[in-house]
Amino acid sequence: MNVLFASSEIYPFAKTGGLADVGGALPVALRSLVDHVTVILPAFRHIYKSGLPIEELPIYFDVPVGGRIASGQLLKSHLPNSDVPIYFVKNDEYFDRPELYREAGNDYQDNCERFVFFSRSVLEAIRLLDLKVDLVHCNDWQTGLIPAYLNIEYRATHGYENIASVLTIHNMAYQGNFWHWDMLLTGLDWKYFNMHQMEFYGHLNFLKTGIVFADAITTVSPRYAEEIQSQPMGCGLEGALRERSKVLAGIVNGVDYTRWNPATDDALAATYDLSSWQTNKPKCKQALQEEFNLPVNPKAPVIGMVGRMADQKGFDLVAKVIRDRAKNCDCQWVILGTGEPHHEAMLRELSSMFPNKIGVKVEFCEGKARRVEAGADMFLMPSLYEPCGLNQLYSLKYGTVPVVRETGGLADTITNVTPASLEVGTANGFSFREYSAEALQDILEQALGTYRENPETWKQIVETGMSQDWSWDRSAQQYVELYEKTIKARRSM
Ligand code: ADP
Repeated sequence: MNVLFASSEIYPFAKTGGLADVGGALPVALRSLVDHVTVILPAFRHIYKSGLPIEELPIYFDVPVGGRIASGQLLKSHLPNSDVPIYFVKNDEYFDRPELYREAGNDYQDNCERFVFFSRSVLEAIRLLDLKVDLVHCNDWQTGLIPAYLNIEYRATHGYENIASVLTIHNMAYQGNFWHWDMLLTGLDWKYFNMHQMEFYGHLNFLKTGIVFADAITTVSPRYAEEIQSQPMGCGLEGALRERSKVLAGIVNGVDYTRWNPATDDALAATYDLSSWQTNKPKCKQALQEEFNLPVNPKAPVIGMVGRMADQKGFDLVAKVIRDRAKNCDCQWVILGTGEPHHEAMLRELSSMFPNKIGVKVEFCEGKARRVEAGADMFLMPSLYEPCGLNQLYSLKYGTVPVVRETGGLADTITNVTPASLEVGTANGFSFREYSAEALQDILEQALGTYRENPETWKQIVETGMSQDWSWDRSAQQYVELYEKTIKARRSM
């Protein structure tokens, strides 16, 4: 089996969120399960910061973008510590920019054009590199047009007759919605601009296009696969998803334990594992308190958060809880993230109101993210929705107890502490259902109470999480089974 993995983010070349982590790890995990896996990504300016060697290939091509011809070149590298080849589609006008999709809170005006170009380039690369692909695995709206081009324009071309397509949705909220005249940029016939295919309330919608044209659709947890088939999580596309429910599946993301492992993590003040966490994790906690300018106090429970500062992540609830309770609580908060300017400003303000209780860093820094994972006692994810979530899985390995809202992948991976779950040894975190500051406050009280008063129970929860295996092996196997089924179905069409 020969798979081409197309994505707009691949760690360590380009990253804004979890998509990059998946893109960097899943192809490597697939490597031992399929004959060939190849990755393709736009040649963003960021790829050169990876420090990995990137070769310019003498492969140039042209694709139509609207009424004009856009030119590209292919570059090549490998995913780190693997023989998985990654190709980059170079066009500096589109991709040599400070950010991937948006600057200062505004999307790039030509995002439609940029990803029309990328999608067409992916299909051209198959021919130019003679990849003999059985299946293209697309990811999110940026690659949503690929299944449409494949079916509408390429199907009759030699070598493309049997190529199957899978679209993985990492987040329904980002759909690639553009004004209707951008349909001209796609080069596809206006007849496809209808409510059953590419149109969404008068707009051109890339994610919907992918949902309609892909042979199979996955999302990143079974619970999210259910949730998105109705409102509000379907974000308007619930109908389109329900129509394709027979080929819609949820596969939980895995963790790359070569990157996220407290036993080998060189960003930490001290490394640790199941046998040494009680002595070494406190050293990480002390270092974290120092790094975030908080009083060094081994007894103060530290609540960590790392993530995009987007509405999705529950920062409104966090702000309310901090405002109401920070003064009278002995706990400390350590928050790392970047995102919506109003969330950034609000968190900075809270940190200046409670400088001894709240440490905030508005920046994107993986080393700090690792140090929060290691140094905090609990890791908070009160998300409004969470397709999979990776941070709670990292937290489990780092012995940092997740406190999460029961939604999407958080619900599929975190088993709430109850007498019953403690008894059977599955309790690995705390979870709450209702999206409210009161419910968040209640679960935090419960978690803090257990931390302070029941060290034995706390130890059990920590060690249950640290012992669990959320590596990619299991998920990659599930993807391969899905690929096999999808390729077979495509061939029998
Ligand atoms: P999402 O994909 O919605 O952003 P995930 O939990 O699936 O959320 O993945 C987030 C990833 O991005 C994690 O690897 C997390 O550590 C990383 N991340 C998010 N914000 C930051 C930041 N400010 N600095 C470093 N890493 C970050």
